[in-house]
Amino acid sequence: MPGQHTYHDRNLPNFEQDEAIQLAADHYGLDGDWQQLTGERDLNYRLETTDGSFVFKIANENDDEDIVGFQVEALRHIALRDPCLPVPRVYPDKDGNYFRRIAGSAGTSNIIRLMSFLPGVPAQDVEITDKTFRETGRFMGRLNVALSSFYHHGARKNDHPWDVSNCLRFQSLSDSIKEADGRAAVNSVFDRFRTSVKPRLDATRHQIIHHDAHPGNVLVDPLNPEKIVGLIDFGDMLYGPVVADLAVTVDVDIAQYPDLQQVMNNVALGFDSAFALYEDEIDLVFDVVAVRAALTAVIAASWIEQDPDGPQYIESYVPYVNAIEQLLSMGHEKGTRELRRTCRFPTYCPRSPDEASDDSHENELLGKRHRYMGEKTTHFYERPMHFERASGAYLYATDGHKYLDCYNNVPQVGHCNPHVVRAISRQAAALNTNTRYLYGSILEYAERLTDKLAPHLDACVFVNSGSEANDIAWQMAKVASGNTGALIMEDAYHGITEPIREFSPGHPDVPLPAHLQGLIVPDTYRGPFREDTPDVAVRYAEDADRAIADLAKEGHDVAAFMIDSALCSSGVPDAPEGYMREVEKRVRAAGGLMICDEVQSGFGRMGQWWGHEFHGVTADIVTMGKPVGNGHPLGVVVTTNEILNQFIDKTDLFSTFGGNTVACAAGNAVIDVIERDELIENGRDVGDYLRDSLRELANTQLLIGDVRGSGMLAGLEFVTDRNKRTPATEETLELLELMRQRRVLVGMEGRYGNVLKLRPPLVFQREHVEQLVSALDSVLSELRID
Ligand code: PMP
Repeated sequence: MPGQHTYHDRNLPNFEQDEAIQLAADHYGLDGDWQQLTGERDLNYRLETTDGSFVFKIANENDDEDIVGFQVEALRHIALRDPCLPVPRVYPDKDGNYFRRIAGSAGTSNIIRLMSFLPGVPAQDVEITDKTFRETGRFMGRLNVALSSFYHHGARKNDHPWDVSNCLRFQSLSDSIKEADGRAAVNSVFDRFRTSVKPRLDATRHQIIHHDAHPGNVLVDPLNPEKIVGLIDFGDMLYGPVVADLAVTVDVDIAQYPDLQQVMNNVALGFDSAFALYEDEIDLVFDVVAVRAALTAVIAASWIEQDPDGPQYIESYVPYVNAIEQLLSMGHEKGTRELRRTCRFPTYCPRSPDEASDDSHENELLGKRHRYMGEKTTHFYERPMHFERASGAYLYATDGHKYLDCYNNVPQVGHCNPHVVRAISRQAAALNTNTRYLYGSILEYAERLTDKLAPHLDACVFVNSGSEANDIAWQMAKVASGNTGALIMEDAYHGITEPIREFSPGHPDVPLPAHLQGLIVPDTYRGPFREDTPDVAVRYAEDADRAIADLAKEGHDVAAFMIDSALCSSGVPDAPEGYMREVEKRVRAAGGLMICDEVQSGFGRMGQWWGHEFHGVTADIVTMGKPVGNGHPLGVVVTTNEILNQFIDKTDLFSTFGGNTVACAAGNAVIDVIERDELIENGRDVGDYLRDSLRELANTQLLIGDVRGSGMLAGLEFVTDRNKRTPATEETLELLELMRQRRVLVGMEGRYGNVLKLRPPLVFQREHVEQLVSALDSVLSELRID
């Protein structure tokens, strides 16, 4: 192999100690007690003087100004960036040079330099605990932070055998491993490195790295061996992947530390706490540790074979082969999962079906779910889906497939929208506190939010969910009106607090308490008044007269009409034009307020900012939830200052988490994205395209009885007989499962469970519509009823 011999050339510089003493005196004016230190390539002396302890270094002849200059400048840079990090300090000679070339008496030309001697003992000489590994990892993380702003052209020249990225050039040395099994294990690690690890490693973050923090180079306090007091030997530094620095730190004798996973976990945890790892890096730790062990094993084996009696820095390759066998028997997937869990990365999620394992732990998760969350907690689909990652309009499952999300209305601006994620994490890193203190972001948010609403809606209350917002709104309405009754839709859903649960019968047959009356759903496709009924809006609205009268019979006047403008739980019917205004008229005449629940319809869902504006009604109280924080818990009640003040006079209003600084960061970021990316316009455009495409599909798919909705909200009602409008309940249920098989997520709604509810994120594009419609077409063909 070209150049291989130079990697094995460990000839130390040829100098007598007396000559070294003279050099130190001549160039640094130092005199004291001398002691030779171990070194693989350089000649190192410890020098004890009255001015302190030093290391005098005579570099290997092969090391030129670029390589030595690289090390010297790196140490100077670290001293500047992190002055308390205990690494050697470099000192100038009498002429102010941090290194100089001298001619040795044996005819060689070498570079000399002077550094501080660090106290402490090598970690390998004491008992290393979990904490020592963690602290070493943390130290290396800090060092990487300091080096992240450093570069020197000599870095690329420092070609040495321990460079993990370049390990494949030494695979052939595996012939020196005598045992066939061990050889095969080592080769399997190199083979995997070649095909799957190296391409990913090359793509990860690179910078100058120390690349040699094994326990021989890490110094600890002998009186407190868990305390790291120094790191030495910067001779293996190079420009390489950050994760390789971490992996080298795990290079330990397996006979002494038999649980490599634990060592890896501790080092990674410490490292990550000081220098946050990226996802592609944590996923490589296991493999890079394995290949570092393979590299060490083959280099050691070939040294021992070439020079059995020579000085061996590594006495035997066997521990490294054993380490590899342990890693192989554990498997990189399990090991990586452990590392992710330790550093609190999201659970490993394969990026393609090829990467997916057969075992997605579904059964284990289900078992634990039953155990810790109750057996009756609901989940979607017969066999629940297991997601660990999402982006934009897609959710990624542990089967390695991506699923088009046409259902979840919380990630309004796309799953894990990077702007929202960054805003949340930046704010979480700066301050997370509550509304009893002053901070600007909540006011900026309140101002922006109220600007989107009619001018009289100018006061906000921040809570944590849609349910809470509705609960507060209901309390406010009672105070403001002095009344105690409410109107709702007969199959409304508004949340889970006790009073609001009563507002959420979900079905017209569920009896309501005396203070509530349900209105007939204004459904012109299936309700009592169809699309061709004259004055259909008024026909439906007249039910409010009946309801108000019925309330009065029970001794309740109307405090409010609570209405979800999207009529989601009613199966997304298109309320006839003017219906809401007609009801509003009646409610106001009876002394009631309009509580517009915008949890579903708000933030552009229906093609404009607010659903109540879509229907042309005036709100007294607006409630918000779900999309407000794009998934971060946030609920808001917006009303008039008058209503709010009246309410606060009666109730001490404070929510610990509501409107905290992080929630406001999320809220502001959501508005940013909606505005900048013109998502409401996009929702209108793509939503119209969606409904047009569905209507076209209805020409050939007879199960489709009705297509409705507005903006990025669509309802699709399935019937087995278009004339009789017979609900296709069973077929709809089956359709959900079949759509899942085609990797499209849709939801079901409506009194008969025969309405497909489509509420994609506002980032949905035409190509997503095409994917959805084509999947629907194929599923409907499978379910064909004609
Ligand atoms: N109002 C409406 C219209 C809703 O759809 C929901 C939730 N589905 C809520 C209120 C309750 O919101 P949350 O689950 O955040 O309490």
